[in-house]
Amino acid sequence: MKSEYNPYDQMLSTLEEAAGMLGLEESAYSFLRYPERELIVSIPVEMDDGRVEIFRGYRVQHSSLRGPCKGGIRYHQDVDLDEVKALAAWMSLKCAVANIPYGGGKGGVKVDPRKLSHRELLKLTRRYTAAILPLIGPEKDIPAPDVNTNSEIMGWIMDTYSMFKGYSVPGVVTGKPLDVGGSLGRKEATGRGVMFVTLEILKRLGKPVEGTKVAVQGYGNVGQTAATLLHQKGCKIIAVSDVSGGLYNEAGLDIEDINRYLHGNHKKLLAGYEGAGVQKISNKELLTCPCDVLVPAALENQITEEIAEQIKARIIVEGANGPTTVEADKVLSSKDVIVVPDILANSGGVIVSYFEWVQNIQSLMWDEDEINRALEKIIIRSFNDVWDKAEEKKATLRMGAYMVAIERLVTAKKIRGIFP
Ligand code: GLU
Repeated sequence: MKSEYNPYDQMLSTLEEAAGMLGLEESAYSFLRYPERELIVSIPVEMDDGRVEIFRGYRVQHSSLRGPCKGGIRYHQDVDLDEVKALAAWMSLKCAVANIPYGGGKGGVKVDPRKLSHRELLKLTRRYTAAILPLIGPEKDIPAPDVNTNSEIMGWIMDTYSMFKGYSVPGVVTGKPLDVGGSLGRKEATGRGVMFVTLEILKRLGKPVEGTKVAVQGYGNVGQTAATLLHQKGCKIIAVSDVSGGLYNEAGLDIEDINRYLHGNHKKLLAGYEGAGVQKISNKELLTCPCDVLVPAALENQITEEIAEQIKARIIVEGANGPTTVEADKVLSSKDVIVVPDILANSGGVIVSYFEWVQNIQSLMWDEDEINRALEKIIIRSFNDVWDKAEEKKATLRMGAYMVAIERLVTAKKIRGIFP
């Protein structure tokens, strides 16, 4: 029987493999195996019907070696400590690959936010913020959106923190609404980054963009933006899916029409969409459909060994964090499927978060063109670093990305040393 999936074990196993390829002694990188801080909080919320429900929340700071901890907050019914630990570690690695001055952190609340009213969601967010308040701050740990959280929630976090301080502190959180210190381009940044790395990998492999068949799993902020931008660049988006199921059209989906449908539909789910030539498919069928590029942009543990055996895509660009298991990675590599790993492919979000934070602490406002250009420059530079490292070590791009990150973190550790 297979042992149960544990995202933190998965992170550790990839870390060990990459550190091994670098020929590092265990003592040189063992600090990366343990998060610096783990906080578990109980969040009482008085529900609309007068009952009090207690939710469990987490904030994990994996590393502050290269700068303040940075990473999103997730609201999901499956959140647990090991997931948040893994996501926090992936943030340290991601920020190191992007070479931006941050460490890694992550937060989460075990809750299905679709079951809460707007008012309950607001109360949950404010109380969670109060509970993690000793840990966060613009110089310490800066949250951002992640699965099921958005700019409105970031605005509440900013307000709650500011109320405790007695003055407005926009730099405590990124991904805020524009009117309270948010940045142009932040909402689309992760999906835009996915688009940039997809175009870059196609270029590196000598493949055309026009007509490239793309399937996108997850039609949230990341998946929807990536699908829309890739469609605008000439790719043919043949399949998209969300928790309610998937849509497939071999001739290419009408992405604008799907986006219009979602805009006017308050549940924002794909299930009810009808279009000429559009077939309904399951999430599994989406992952294994005949396409050139597969973009998993939902949750971790989607591309398992079993799915990997059936995958027909030649390229996978990981919009989500941890969508491919370690076992599946081996299968994909034996099939010569190129995987552009999460810590590179979805780094656009945290890169523009960095720009937002820089604007906040300097009280500056950049224009959108400037932001998108700077994002492209950083993500392509990271792509090159990862590509070169993978070539040098004759390794996969995932190993290349981990090696780039580990080297940067180990260098910082050497410089800083151990206190006391
Ligand atoms: N949640 C996003 C991620 O996983 C963004 C994090 C951030 O902007 O801090 O990369």
